[in-house]
This record gives sequence, C-alpha cells and structure tokens, in this order.
Amino acid sequence: MNHQAQQQVPFVDLQPQHEPLQAQLQQALKAVVERGDFILGKAVVDFEAAFAAASGVEYGIGVASGTGAIALGLQACGVGAGDEVILPSNTFIATLIGVLQTGATPILVDCDSSTALIDLKAAQKAITTKTKAIVPVHLYGQMVSPKQLLALADTHNLLIFEDAAQAHLAQREGYLAGSIGKAAAFSFYPSKNLGAFGNGGIVLTKDATIAAKVRSLRNYGAPQKYFHTDIGTNSRLDTLQAAVLNVKLPYLGGWNQSRNSAAMYYDALLEPLQSQGIFPIENQSDTGHIYHLYVIRVSAGCPVDRQTIQDELAALGIQTGIHYPIPCHLQPAYQYLGYQAGDFPQAETLSQEILSLPMYPGLSEAQISYVVDCLKKVRF
Ligand SMILES: *Cc1c(COP(=O)(O)O)cnc(C)c1O
Repeated sequence: MNHQAQQQVPFVDLQPQHEPLQAQLQQALKAVVERGDFILGKAVVDFEAAFAAASGVEYGIGVASGTGAIALGLQACGVGAGDEVILPSNTFIATLIGVLQTGATPILVDCDSSTALIDLKAAQKAITTKTKAIVPVHLYGQMVSPKQLLALADTHNLLIFEDAAQAHLAQREGYLAGSIGKAAAFSFYPSKNLGAFGNGGIVLTKDATIAAKVRSLRNYGAPQKYFHTDIGTNSRLDTLQAAVLNVKLPYLGGWNQSRNSAAMYYDALLEPLQSQGIFPIENQSDTGHIYHLYVIRVSAGCPVDRQTIQDELAALGIQTGIHYPIPCHLQPAYQYLGYQAGDFPQAETLSQEILSLPMYPGLSEAQISYVVDCLKKVRF
C-alpha cells in the first residue's frame, strides 16, 4: 500500500495571501458595515486615490468589473459608433466585449509569436481613416512596449487605451501599466494580481474631463443626483470590495516580486526542456513583468502533444490552464464580424501550443521543482 500523499499544486491558491491578512480584512469589512456607506463609500474614494497614485496617474474611478472599465473608459474617451478600434485577437474575450459595448467597430490583429503581445506592425497595417484608438493588452503581466506604442500613436494620431487587467503595477521602459495612454482599465477579479472578494474594476486616467465622464457614466449618467447628462449605467466598484482592495494594495508590490522570482526559477529549471521544443513565452521586461500567468509553449517540435502533457500533469496533482484556447476571432458569437481561420496565424498557433503552469504569490520553489520534474517525466 502506498501511504505517501501525492503532492498537489493548484493552478492558483489565494490562501497564502489572505491568511496573514485575515484580521485586517475582517476589520475593514466590519468598518464598512458599521459606517453603512455601501454605495460609493469612503473605502471606494480611498482606494481610487491610492491605486491611481501607485500607478502614477491622477485619477482612478472604481467600476463594477474590468469589462465595465474597458467599456466606460473607452466611451469616456469619446470612442463610439463609426470609430474603428484596434485590438489583439489573442486576449480574454472581455477586451472585445468592452470595445463592442461602445458601439465602435473592433479591428482585430495578430500577435507577436515570442511575447504573445499585440503585433504593432500588424496594428499599423490595420490603420484606416476611421481608426480612433488602439487597445493594447498587457497580457500575462507583461506590458506592450510603451515606446513603440507611443511612437505608433503619435504618428497616426491614435488614442491609446490600455487593457491592464493582467498588469497591476507592471513596468516597462520606465512606464507603469495604466500610465501610457489616454486612459486604462484594470480588473480586480479574485485571481488577478490584485483581486477582490468578487468583481471589481477601475479606470485610470490623467485627464480630469475623462475622469468626470466615467464617474457620471458608472452612476446612471448623473454628475449630480437625479440630473442625467449622460446615457449611463450602473457600474460602480462595491464599497465592501474596495475595503478588501485597500487592505491588499500595500502588499501588491511584494506579491508581484514573488511571482517574478517564481518565474525566474521556472525559467532556469525549464532550460533543459528547450531541446524538447518546450520554452517559455519571452520576457522582454525583466523584473517589470508581473507574471499574472506563467505560460510555456509546447511547440510543434515537441514529441509530446499539449493535451498529453496536461493530462499527465493532472494525474500527478498539478493543475494547468490554457489562456486562451480559442482566439477571439474564432469564437462562435463573433463570427458575424467576418473573420475566419487563417486570418491570424500567430494567434491561432499560440492557442494550440500554450500552457499556463501554476503561478501565484507564495508558490514555493519546492512546488516549482515538482512541476518541472513532472514535466520532465512526461515520456518524450
Ligand atoms: C480579466 C480580464 C478582463 C475582464 O475583467 P473582468 O473584471 O472579469 O470583467 C479584461 N481583459 C483582460 C485581459 C482580462 O484578463
């Protein structure tokens, strides 16, 4: 009989971050209940200021989700029907949903095969007289090059709206995520680098007019109570969620560092597998990459297919994920946009080859070694 408990490595474990903060979290939630300011309360105001300051911008406007942040943020920037908006096809579907909610026409483009980030040359080729904005997605925790983005936007007079839902406090070329463009969207979905106990999001901007517009749009389109100047919606950051985020924000930098260190460890241990066609998505940002996800490629050169690897790891207690298995342009709901298989070869190939390994702050070196040892045991 085998009494040895099999080691388990979950894909994400939030306990290591929440356990030490339990007392603080409970206190913060209790304070909201005692104040009773459940809608746009003090915790929301405090968090908006703190997160904006940490990200190097003037204004933060808390909204109900990352999707809401993209939709309302773009709308506040003046994006709407008749405008074309360029975005990558390999992103989470919410980027596309947010763009569509403004009434604008999404123009999908391919990605760079080594970083999986939007291919800015492809973006440039997609520019027309109707192009109003580009929505770079700082995917997996790595920013799209700010210098290249700004150069492209300046040349073609484009508005930059960052989807930073996976990039809280990420850095590249001296820029913080959310500080490059006209405005930016973040998500506080529980498993994001900064996660709430439910849904939440924020729009960041340096522009007072855009900030005021988002504030109105998220709150029934009313800059003052019962006076509706915008066709708005109800998309506010919940006060209880903001209270949680206020407790967690001071630790975000450390958690990001922990993810980056874990990634460096993975990189080093995985090095020998490169000869088997397995290699990580490229990090061009050094410590500025905050590794929302640690993604490897099981390339065509690998003698074992991705599904087999995933199954064998699962049998050994290791959870993995695929981000994302179908690029936006091939999703059934969006066939009406007119794209087809073959339109974005890099995104399509990536979607077949990528595999996300366990990654969260507190993931130990022993766990990482176990994951890589198990990967090496897959029969090649
Ligand atoms: C999570 C995510 C979103 C959407 O955020 P929600 O809070 O779930 O609405 C948007 N874009 C990207 C890239 C994301 O990862």
